[in-house]
Amino acid sequence: MMRVYQLARRLNLSTGNLLKLLTSLGIEAKSSLSGLSPKEVRQLEKSILKKRKPSPKAKKLLLRTPIVTLLGHVDHGKTTLLDAVRQTSVAKEEVGGITQKIGASEVEFQGEKIVFIDTPGHEAFTAMRAHGAQVTDIAVLVIAADDGVMPQTVEAIDHARAAKVPIVVAINKIDKSEANPDRVKRQLNKYDLTPEEWGGKTICVEVSALTKQGLDELLEMILLEAEMLELASDSDGDFRAVVIEGEMDRQKGPCSTLLIQNGTLKIGDILVGGSSFGKVRALINWKGKKLKEAGPSTPVRVLGLSDIGTPGGIFRKAESERKARQLAQATKKEEREKGLVKRELITLESLYQEQVKEKKALNAILKTDTQGSLRALTDVLNNLEDEEVKINMVHGAIGEVNKSDILLAAASKGIVISFNVGTVSESLTLAKDERVDIRSYQVIYEMIDDIKKSMQGLLEPQYEEVEIGEAEVRDTFRIPKVGVVAGSYITAGKVVRGSKAKVFRGDEMVGEGMVSGLKRFDKDVSEVLTGLECGVNVEGFNEIRKGDLIRVYEARRVR
Ligand code: GDP
Repeated sequence: MMRVYQLARRLNLSTGNLLKLLTSLGIEAKSSLSGLSPKEVRQLEKSILKKRKPSPKAKKLLLRTPIVTLLGHVDHGKTTLLDAVRQTSVAKEEVGGITQKIGASEVEFQGEKIVFIDTPGHEAFTAMRAHGAQVTDIAVLVIAADDGVMPQTVEAIDHARAAKVPIVVAINKIDKSEANPDRVKRQLNKYDLTPEEWGGKTICVEVSALTKQGLDELLEMILLEAEMLELASDSDGDFRAVVIEGEMDRQKGPCSTLLIQNGTLKIGDILVGGSSFGKVRALINWKGKKLKEAGPSTPVRVLGLSDIGTPGGIFRKAESERKARQLAQATKKEEREKGLVKRELITLESLYQEQVKEKKALNAILKTDTQGSLRALTDVLNNLEDEEVKINMVHGAIGEVNKSDILLAAASKGIVISFNVGTVSESLTLAKDERVDIRSYQVIYEMIDDIKKSMQGLLEPQYEEVEIGEAEVRDTFRIPKVGVVAGSYITAGKVVRGSKAKVFRGDEMVGEGMVSGLKRFDKDVSEVLTGLECGVNVEGFNEIRKGDLIRVYEARRVR
């Protein structure tokens, strides 16, 4: 039973204000919303949201179906739960139509839809993100009530957080006699996922994928969470779809499952995505039914494309097949020229260019050998905080560097720091493919030293002026529209156009400005070396005289 304070928290209202609103809607409520079914609570919530703020974008944009991925530790029941949920939406007559899984399924509950991504697990979830797209709106974290929070549960939490995806917890296997849901809730507390009934914000639902107990409530809560997210899309807008999975079918040729994010896809439309393109020949939904068109949040298997798409790849529409082919070929060529390098390698050193513009944070995944070293290193990294940059610990855990660490680093544009632990060999290969830098240390001071250095690279660049040349003014000329040009003789170094100049008369500096003009005879040149004569124009300084000394400087970055 939902309590008033819970609803108030969900709606970001004070309990008092919510009670007032409820009264204005003709509902008497004190502490609980007893007598209301979950559906009625949801409708109530909807009407309150409407009353509170008429969303300006509501006119053009439609609320769209939420996309959900199940995450969690192995064997905690993700696959079983997904199957159970799918079954709730399949009528007996339809069973025969489902001959193969297409990578995502649409479940209908109380007249509303929810799309589930078929491949559960945070690896697939983050791999997609690493390859360019995020499709998941809500993560359902599956935790077995008899096992509790396990290492991959923690990974899943961090992966969802890194993707900024809200988490709904499904405490599974409550049919088991060893089930202890309260223990799970206590554990969740530690990971900042305090359950609602304990005064936190996390929705926790107790379920059994086996007996199907609690499934309705889980779907209910997913819809509730989705409503709060106000997921919008524009069915008339620019078309955009993400590849969920692709496979080669012996008879049908390349098949790709696209999840439509915006716009509507129809048979006969021309699509292009990466190096794949083509005219849509058929659209098939997850139940094996042929569709004529598909709108936002619909997963559809598309036939007619030249290649299978890569998960995470984006497809758009093209005006003509010719145009689509051209675009696809250009992409192919680009990929070849780049040597199929997908992304720049992020290293401690290169972080500087990558991040300085935006967040000024170094995303790091930390793997260590013991709980003690994990705690100590986390403290050290957090205390390395500079005024301008900080280490953002995306994930920290004990154990070898695994595939999901690499994918998380790739998706977060971060690095992996391993301390006294090895790297699973398949992860090394993946790290190479995904261009992820793994830094290994055995000594804490070395790690600190390295990171400090990279942090210096992350700081705003500082420049110092370094003198690069000197020239004596031998004569001056006034040239219309340009100003005074100093006929000079270079006595040391060089004069470079665009560099900074200071003009000295004896010991006194009389002017400064940029070398805006530099000529050898009548020709514009970019630099002139020692022993040569040239014409120098110092921008904004026309009082230059015979006998002055021009000193030229270059700005060099200080590390
Ligand atoms: P996954 O690795 O997270 O996808 O887990 P699976 O769905 O493969 O489930 C692992 C095992 O737990 C299987 O033997 C399931 O039959 C069992 N299982 C899943 N859900 C439940 C449940 O609610 N109750 C019980 N008793 N067993 C379950």
